[in-house]
Amino acid sequence: MKILVANLGSTSLKWRLYAFEEGEARLLHRGGLERVSDYATAINDCLEQLKQAGAIISESELAAVGFKTVLAHSITGCVALSPEVLADMEAGNQIAPAHNPPYLTGIGLFAERMPNTPLVGLFETAFYQWMPETAKRYGVPSSWHDAGVRRWGFHGASHKYIAERSAEHLNRPDIAHRVRQLYVDQASSPVQGAPLRVISAHLGGSSSVTGIFNGVAIGNSMGLSPQSGLPHNNRVGDLDAMAIPYMMQRHGLSLEEVLQDLCSSGGLSGISGGYNDLRDVQAQADAGNEQAQLALDFLVAEVRRWLGAYLVELGGLDALVMTAGIGENRPAIREAICHGLESFGISLDPALNAACIGQEAIISTPESRVKIMVIPTNEELVVAREVKRFLEK
Ligand code: ADP
Repeated sequence: MKILVANLGSTSLKWRLYAFEEGEARLLHRGGLERVSDYATAINDCLEQLKQAGAIISESELAAVGFKTVLAHSITGCVALSPEVLADMEAGNQIAPAHNPPYLTGIGLFAERMPNTPLVGLFETAFYQWMPETAKRYGVPSSWHDAGVRRWGFHGASHKYIAERSAEHLNRPDIAHRVRQLYVDQASSPVQGAPLRVISAHLGGSSSVTGIFNGVAIGNSMGLSPQSGLPHNNRVGDLDAMAIPYMMQRHGLSLEEVLQDLCSSGGLSGISGGYNDLRDVQAQADAGNEQAQLALDFLVAEVRRWLGAYLVELGGLDALVMTAGIGENRPAIREAICHGLESFGISLDPALNAACIGQEAIISTPESRVKIMVIPTNEELVVAREVKRFLEK
């Protein structure tokens, strides 16, 4: 069975093609197109590349196309992208303006191009279905909550991968199996040993921290929308809601201007004065730009805030995992996050940390009670496995 996973950005199309043999996924092809202005052409080019590489002979070989869909108004899980689901996603356009519209465009074009191929979405919110009610709430009137103003949590595919892979590293096949089965048996499979407590920090263009207890998420730093939680490359992160009426009423900004500032000119870019790739922010900071240094310090401080929250909520910690572009490739940020946490049993080995760029490694000292790990994420694999399971259902 061959499953194509398509990752749709506002100007990019990336893909991975998996073949499932005896249940396990094998990566057949991966590729991507940048600066995409015409999505229909990009989809065509993707399918042509798969054929030229010999990964498929014809499109009819694809059992499904899977998408790491971000959010819908009321639907989560792994679902067929029916007109009803797409309409529910459209209702989320305003709170996920950088994420939902490109998915809706791309999915529509895939549907036109391949009308007989199932299109399946694994929502980024799916991993948070079992978090406690308190982690889903805001302190708003029930009418707001009922209207959908709640915490969802995002980066679910990535944090789920980390939950499974970290359990394997920690010699807990029972938990790894539990994570693997999660969307099927709703986290009910038994845990054989001591509880396993993991904090996963996905630090990239978008960033979030998730607390994971026995393989199941207990919360995520992002809430209603992917604009919340930690500061992102150019998106705001957490903000007091009163800032919006203040800027509109006192400073005369329109709603569009507010959204532009929060969703395109905020986060690291907003603080540093326009640098949104961490490499650029770091280069500026190294050259003496104080605002750029502040952006780095702020990101680290916000990661530590959530680290503290989940450390308490989990009642201790067995592993701290860092992943995604920044988590996998930036030793200095990892070091700053772990600085001075020895009394919590978190002790980074500077040499192991410095040597780890973009690979799986344990970077804590041998004495560290908490294992600090770098695990390159694999969101597409999680999507492919769930889509396969969906098709077999
Ligand atoms: P996205 O959320 O868009 O998928 P990534 O996970 O690729 O983003 O993370 C992007 C961030 O990670 C950028 O700030 C970039 O500076 C940093 N990053 C990505 N790859 C590298 C690398 N090889 N070396 C250093 N930094 C990197």
